[in-house]
Amino acid sequence: MVKLLLWGLLIWLAFKYLPPLLKRFSTHSTPQDAPRDPNAQDMVRCAHCGVFVLRSEALFQGDLAYCGETHRKAGPNP
Ligand SMILES: [Zn+2]
Repeated sequence: MVKLLLWGLLIWLAFKYLPPLLKRFSTHSTPQDAPRDPNAQDMVRCAHCGVFVLRSEALFQGDLAYCGETHRKAGPNP
């Protein structure tokens, strides 16, 4: 009977303390704790065709971004 209680205690301790330890030693990183790439650029979506373009290469008209001059002239696609 005592043996069974000891096993129960051991299993309980394993479940209580192992996950945080594994988390600490794991090399797997989640996107939240990965440092942001300083060279990464924001992407914006063309209001006409929906394609994603770099913010630096997008054409803006008001709040709307466009992938090119033709789509900027065509305006937003409903
Ligand atoms: Zn477009």
